[in-house]
Amino acid sequence: MELHLEKLVKDFAEVRALDTGDLTIQDGKLTGLLGPSGCGKSTLLYLISGLQSPTSGRIFFGDRDVTLLPPEKRGIGLVFQNYALYPHMTVEQNIAFPLVNQKVKKEEIRERTEEMAKLVQIGDLLKRKPSQLSGGQQQRVAIARALVKQPEILLLDEPLSNLDARLRLEMREEIRRIQIETGVTTVFVTHDQEEAMSITDEIVLMKKGIVQQQCAPQEMYLNPGNQFVASFLGNPPISYFRFPVQDGCLQISDTCHLPLSLRHEGAVVTGIRPEAWRKGDGLAVQVQAVEQHGKDNQITFQLAGTKARALLDVTEPVRVGDTVSLTLDPRFVYFFDEATGTRLYGEAGQ
Ligand code: ATP
Repeated sequence: MELHLEKLVKDFAEVRALDTGDLTIQDGKLTGLLGPSGCGKSTLLYLISGLQSPTSGRIFFGDRDVTLLPPEKRGIGLVFQNYALYPHMTVEQNIAFPLVNQKVKKEEIRERTEEMAKLVQIGDLLKRKPSQLSGGQQQRVAIARALVKQPEILLLDEPLSNLDARLRLEMREEIRRIQIETGVTTVFVTHDQEEAMSITDEIVLMKKGIVQQQCAPQEMYLNPGNQFVASFLGNPPISYFRFPVQDGCLQISDTCHLPLSLRHEGAVVTGIRPEAWRKGDGLAVQVQAVEQHGKDNQITFQLAGTKARALLDVTEPVRVGDTVSLTLDPRFVYFFDEATGTRLYGEAGQ
């Protein structure tokens, strides 16, 4: 079910929590709503669910205008970070609850409950109470309960944030598997860029209630639309520099200049991702710190008065105090207008 949000606005007293413009969420895909705390992710999810009403704008599920419909009439499944299971009911009763409410026949309830329990792989836990389950198992029950109604849209509000790091990894893969198996259009709220990058088909990245960019995760990483997007994605993060541009060249240091095809009046901020740096004949820098990041060594050095990070192949040994010579891969170098953070398009050549 494709989801269209038309100029949705939500105000809380003086605060404009959300102003989305027009936004389409793709049918059958897993879309991540991503952004820092307070950017309006949960508000957007609550508007889609009907738990809150917009100040203005309209919400369409396909061709159906649901703006004024209460949550139970929208055909949605909701999963919250605290699971919200009924503690006095068994797993089976929890999953079956929405169907009992809808007065579905007993035999069908049993079949659909078992099918859902199997889908989320808790078929052997049906007689337990929520208190006898781990966090991950409780989350599986919550997902089964949301899906048993066969919703057209599944809404997940930070579903993994109460789990420890290992379980979070496991459950995010599970959410992806379940979403692919069921094909249900899913909106997943998270503030964790890695989570969003790893399992979504598309990310909607928000800041202060406004959508900054919407596209596939890889595309957003490789092609950020503005400085906020470039900063929000990437670990270790991008570093920024204010190199002078002179005679069509970026003056990285006294000895290192990069030809630059950029026409821009005014100050340019250069963003360099850590993976842009390569060992090679170019800029000599002194290594201040070394951290091992899996297959890479992260080295830290000073450049134009700013801390810079480079990821170098771990098989090439490097120690604190070493001088290394680096070149830049221009694919991971971006330019932004200093005043607005808008991306400036141009290339730095070697
Ligand atoms: P988090 O990741 O911390 O949950 P979020 O991105 O989900 O944040 P929202 O909870 O949607 O952000 O909040 C967006 C903005 O709206 C914030 O500035 C918040 O303080 C404000 N806000 C949310 N709910 C209310 C409310 N009921 N009354 C007043 N302001 C609110």
